[in-house]
Amino acid sequence: MSDLDQIITDYDLWYLNLPVVSSRDHGIGRVDGSCELIILRLRAEGGAEGFGEASPWSVFTGSPEASYAALDRYIRPHVVSRRVSDRASIMADALKAVAHCTEAKAALETALFDLEGRITSRPVHSLLGGKHRDTIPLSVSLADPDWSKDRALLDRLHDEGVRIVKLKTGFGEQAFDLMRLEELRQDFPEFSVRVDYNQGLASETALEHVREVAEFRPDFIEQPVVHWDYETMAEIREAIDVPLLADESVFGPEDLARASREGICDGVSVKIMKSGGLSRAKETAEQAARNGLTAYGGDMFEAGLAHLAGTHMIAATAEITLGCEFYQARYFLHEDILEEAFPCDGGVVTVPDGPGLGARPSIDKLNHYSRSEARAA
Ligand SMILES: [Mg+2]
Repeated sequence: MSDLDQIITDYDLWYLNLPVVSSRDHGIGRVDGSCELIILRLRAEGGAEGFGEASPWSVFTGSPEASYAALDRYIRPHVVSRRVSDRASIMADALKAVAHCTEAKAALETALFDLEGRITSRPVHSLLGGKHRDTIPLSVSLADPDWSKDRALLDRLHDEGVRIVKLKTGFGEQAFDLMRLEELRQDFPEFSVRVDYNQGLASETALEHVREVAEFRPDFIEQPVVHWDYETMAEIREAIDVPLLADESVFGPEDLARASREGICDGVSVKIMKSGGLSRAKETAEQAARNGLTAYGGDMFEAGLAHLAGTHMIAATAEITLGCEFYQARYFLHEDILEEAFPCDGGVVTVPDGPGLGARPSIDKLNHYSRSEARAA
């Protein structure tokens, strides 16, 4: 029996409630107090373990309750008693077992890759086809409704070597967005600036708002209007000379095909939580490149485990050239769940080369932050 012929014997879930250090406002909603996410642990008969994280946001991808139910009720029967080597067919079954719930499928594929990597002593990026880069530039999002707090964060980011920020816009007045851009350009000229509306603008008035913001020459402007309004996205793209990125409008390869056909964007934000796993995220970025679009490594409100999965996916995907935004473990969560700090320093994320994801969550922390009433749901 080869090592990968081992049967998956154990399948455990934690529903976590992780305290955060600041408020964040986005076009479609606020995150305050804590993030809720689900952790999956698989164990093979030889004792090796693999971990994965589902990081939903209810107003964007779906609810944590739905992720938990998808993993606990609908996906579990397709995993337990299967072989570790069945990864691709397990994922195909999970895709059909429950609609949507892309975060749950991302957690599953992450755990399967981690398990396989632990057994074979290979890093996940190697299982995905090989590493194209050793480090990934880090972008940190500015979304605090209290701008003085983001200014303090900018000072810290400067000291820690971060040089890319993404300003979250469209949750307040236009004057607030313009004031912040003005101060960013004047007082923090060393930062490269991106802008993300998270669908915050009304379709009728979006263009006039975006035009004023485009005058500040950000690297790109992301998702100004609601995800289904491809028509307005295409109009805005046509009217401005700053690249327009799609995020909520493009979850996976299927959306990408339509987005490209209808000319709604110059690039896409690629996230494993939207695509439903690392393989489909990679496929989305590759398809984007074939259609002349750039790609950026986005994330949800994640802990370090999901950051690691995204890091391996980006490392193995040459087409994702605009960096990543895996900042929450260090700059947003009160405490991350990994045993050791998520590897970001000096403005870059360093790609781990150890077996599997290269790091694992602390079981003590998982138990500590577990929401016990939800585990019984
Ligand atoms: Mg976005």
